[in-house]
Parts: sequence; structure tokens; C-alpha cells
Amino acid sequence: MTLLTFRFAPSPNGALHLGHAYSALLNRELARQAGGRLLLRIEDIDIARSTPPFEAAILRDLEWLGIEWETPVRRQSEHFADYHAALDRLIAQGVVYPAFLSRGDIRAVIADSGRAATWPRDPDGAPLYPTGERELSTRERRRRVDDGQPFAWRLNVDAAREQAGKDLAWEEFTDETLSTVRQVEARPQDWGDVIVARRDIPTSYHLAVVVDDALQGVSHVVRGKDLYLATSVQRLLQQLLGLPRPRYLHHRLILGPDGRKLSKSLRDTGLAALRESGMAPAGVKALVGL
Ligand code: GLU
Repeated sequence: MTLLTFRFAPSPNGALHLGHAYSALLNRELARQAGGRLLLRIEDIDIARSTPPFEAAILRDLEWLGIEWETPVRRQSEHFADYHAALDRLIAQGVVYPAFLSRGDIRAVIADSGRAATWPRDPDGAPLYPTGERELSTRERRRRVDDGQPFAWRLNVDAAREQAGKDLAWEEFTDETLSTVRQVEARPQDWGDVIVARRDIPTSYHLAVVVDDALQGVSHVVRGKDLYLATSVQRLLQQLLGLPRPRYLHHRLILGPDGRKLSKSLRDTGLAALRESGMAPAGVKALVGL
């Protein structure tokens, strides 16, 4: 029998806070209960914002919490070739296209459409990317690329859904005992034509996560509810790339005293600040309700 595999996958663009501690401790707990493995993955594709000092601080905080992980740790910035291979596959499938509109261009297209007030928005409230470039001829695309026009690769979500077929559900645990699952219907269309590889970064969060979860044999993705809706896009990519489908548990978020989601810039709920204030790891566990 293959071991159940869990992972904690922080981005080293800030310090860990109580929300991260909950996620890491819960992953550790579930891996333990299942007799499974816990992996740590450093999600540093945004090489401008991710820094070695943040990564070192993350490792320090996790060690302090008593979390143990397998080595070597996978650092995404060392694996751009893997993500590129996946992107090439999507290009060959014809489900991604070069998208040339800048932010300003997007605003202009929407303003000129006469439908600005009713333009569809994604779950984060951002307007969906205009889909006009799906229809550009190969020749015109090549002309723009040869001209040096910057572009990102975007998913044609309609073509992608058609190719992926009907089976786009995922299995979501309804509690933290891994005992009850329900089927959730993925709705990648709610996000429109998402970016799969950026102008400045040759991949994207979604692409790197699905490639790595598969390469690392992750069977259980345990992460915050703030990523619940993102799973729809990831399911679609898994299906297109022929990758296995992990199970998901999107856990509750730890909120600040103001009832809002914690942010990496909030110093008082940062793990380092709590440690310096004299708190013990057991105190952190109690604070997050574990
Ligand atoms: N790197 C992401 C973050 O720090 C988490 C990605 C995931 O768990 O899928 O928010």
C-alpha cells in the first residue's frame, strides 16, 4: 500500500503567522494519524518577492513548532523546467494562448465594450480577462511575438473544459478526521481565462502546484479555505495533464481579533513575535485550537 502523503507549501514572501502554524500542525497531525508522510515545499516561483531570509525564517519557525519533514525540500524555483514541460503540453493541446493585453488594455477593452457594469467578475472580484485573443490567427500571434510584444499564456477555459471532459469533480473532506468525503463540482469557468505562465515568471501558482503535487505523490492537500475556489482551476489542469487527483481538505482560517484573515504583515500574530514574547509551541497549539 502506498503511504498517504501530505504537504505544507508556504511561499517565502513574508513571515509565518498563526494561520500557517495551524495549517502546518494540522497537516502533521493528519499525516501522523494516517501513518503517512509530511513534505515541506517552498513555493518561491515569484523570485522577486521570495527571499532566502524569509525561507530561513520559515524553517526556523517550523522547527520551533516541532514539525519534521522529509529532505530534500522541494524548492519550486529550482524546477522551472518541469513546469515548462507541462506548459508545452498545454500549448500542444491548444488549450492555452498568448495573451497580450496589459492591465490598462484590459480596462480599456471593458470600458469600450458598453458592458462595463455587467462585465463578469471572478470570485476575488477582478474582471474576467477579455477573450477576444482566443481567435487570433497563428500568423498574427507569431507577428506579435516576433515584434517583441510581451505576453502571458492564458488558459482558454471553454476549450479546456471541453477537452477535459465531464469528470471535473473533486473529493473534499468534510471534517478533520479524514472520514467523510463529499464530491464537489469544479467550476473553473468562474475564473475565466486564468494565467498559466506569466510574462516575467515562466509558470504560475496553479501550474506549479499541480505539477508538484503529482511529482511528489501528494495524496492529500490540506490547506486553508481561502484556496477552496482555486481548486477548481487546479482540477481542470490535473485533468488536462493526465495527473492523479489528490483529495482535499480546506480547513478553517485563523482570524485576527478584528475578525479578518491574518496577513503576513501583521506582526503580533507572527510566529517569531509570539516566540520572542515568550510563548511556547504548546501555547500556539492552544491558540489555534489544536
Ligand atoms: N503557497 C501557497 C500559500 O502560501 C499555498 C499553496 C497550496 O497549499 O496549495 O498560500
